[in-house]
Amino acid sequence: MPAAKKPKVAQKPAPDRKPAPPTKPASSSKSPAAKKPAFDYDLFVIGAGSGGVRASRVSAAHGAKVAVAEEFRIGGTCVIRGCVPKKLLVYGSHFAEELQDAAHYGWTIGKLSFDWNVLRDTVLGDVDRLNAAYTTTLESHGVERFLERATITGPNSVKLASGKTYTAKTILVATGAWPVIPEFKGAQHCITSNEVFHLPSLPKRVVIAGAGYIALEFAGIFNALGCHVTVVNRSDAILRGYDESLRDRLLQITMARGIEYKFNCPFDSVAKNEDGTFQVTLAGHDPFCADLVMVATGRKPNTDGLGLDKVGIKLGLKGEIPVDEFSRTSCKSIYAVGDVTDRVQLTPIAIREGQAFADTVFGDNPRSIDYDFIPSAVFSQPPLAGVGLTEGQARETLGSIKVFSSDFRPMKNVFAGRHERGLYKMIVDAATDRVVGLHMIGPEAPEILQAAAIAVRAGLTKADFDATVALHPSMAEELVLMR
Ligand code: NDP
Repeated sequence: MPAAKKPKVAQKPAPDRKPAPPTKPASSSKSPAAKKPAFDYDLFVIGAGSGGVRASRVSAAHGAKVAVAEEFRIGGTCVIRGCVPKKLLVYGSHFAEELQDAAHYGWTIGKLSFDWNVLRDTVLGDVDRLNAAYTTTLESHGVERFLERATITGPNSVKLASGKTYTAKTILVATGAWPVIPEFKGAQHCITSNEVFHLPSLPKRVVIAGAGYIALEFAGIFNALGCHVTVVNRSDAILRGYDESLRDRLLQITMARGIEYKFNCPFDSVAKNEDGTFQVTLAGHDPFCADLVMVATGRKPNTDGLGLDKVGIKLGLKGEIPVDEFSRTSCKSIYAVGDVTDRVQLTPIAIREGQAFADTVFGDNPRSIDYDFIPSAVFSQPPLAGVGLTEGQARETLGSIKVFSSDFRPMKNVFAGRHERGLYKMIVDAATDRVVGLHMIGPEAPEILQAAAIAVRAGLTKADFDATVALHPSMAEELVLMR
């Protein structure tokens, strides 16, 4: 493998100092010399989401006495009201396409009907199952759980909503992020991704504010389930940060599927009609009617009222907790991981940060996270996935690049009479032949990209991809046949 220069991706946070790794604190509870432990816990974690649960469990496995406080449900956003239930809704809604296509493959399907309540309740049942599984994991590792809000009262102390105060040698903040609702008249009538999993019925007309991950994933779900969907964005773009050609392709396919887009349209107001529907007014446009208005305009770190000011931690511009590469805050005994630090708002990153924190502080194995080449996906319909530099980013950072692509109609689409085309794009550093970016839209793109991301991260070249024999017939074979 050539010693290719490692390109930087835009997501990587740039630590401005190279701190020495933290050393393992002496266990407050197990010191033989101490009659009474100096602290109630070695570690008090605030927030039992992906990062907090991983950090709690691994720290406990390293021998720490750990407690975790969670004000809602153990599992956090990903499990309770994010990635997991969303993906189940994507699966559920995708049957519409599969059932439609089935006739081309010889299946006779009777009269189709869909019951939102069945899908919703089954999804919520699975959320309960996962919530119980996460709780059991903490229990089996001896992590004490407080199902209430905790706030910081000092460098080594927290206060629970019930009034009890506990001390800890180390505090970890893993409180995640919360949906942002921009200010406009009638904003209180809108829901966010927190409430969408609990809808009492399927709305006929849905308006979604924002054109990022959440907006496009739910636009796809509602559209597949037969709702009329209007996506409204303040700018003229969807999915900022993803490769432009893929964004264009998604826009084109979803418009053909019936999703309406309104760009450069900030919300003016939402008013509730007497019949329970909503009158939506966008700046400079005539009002129109909707049955549901959902806001998906980003998520803000959950730091309000957490008491960080009491320990001198100054928040960043978005309300995030600034941390160094070992997730240390400016207060020596307090660390933070996951969305609350706004490094990369993705579950697998929060989990890695939680693990690295536990290994560093309680496992005598100081380590930080490599934020390069993080694969990500949008579970729109069709889905989109990418790793590394987009064409635009590569041109800016590397100068001389080569772009290869495959614009193809997946075999299953051809047979089913679907005209939607997939698009795979490979960005190569012209100087080294190294693949520095891979971007895909089409059926199963996230599943295919995860495997390909290993090759991209490993620094393989275009020649390495070409030397791999195609697996025929598959969509993934396009990866080794790109011209
Ligand atoms: P995103 O940051 O993806 O998108 C926000 C959208 O809202 C953009 O279209 C943006 O417009 C618009 N917007 C931002 N601020 C305002 C404002 N004040 N007024 C009006 N519009 C605004 O946010 P999401 O809420 O969709 O998702 C939050 C995060 O959750 C994502 O960044 C992602 O990290 C994570 N996530 C990941 C998923 C996955 O991995 N599949 C799935 C869901 C969420 P503009 O075009 O101008 O930027």
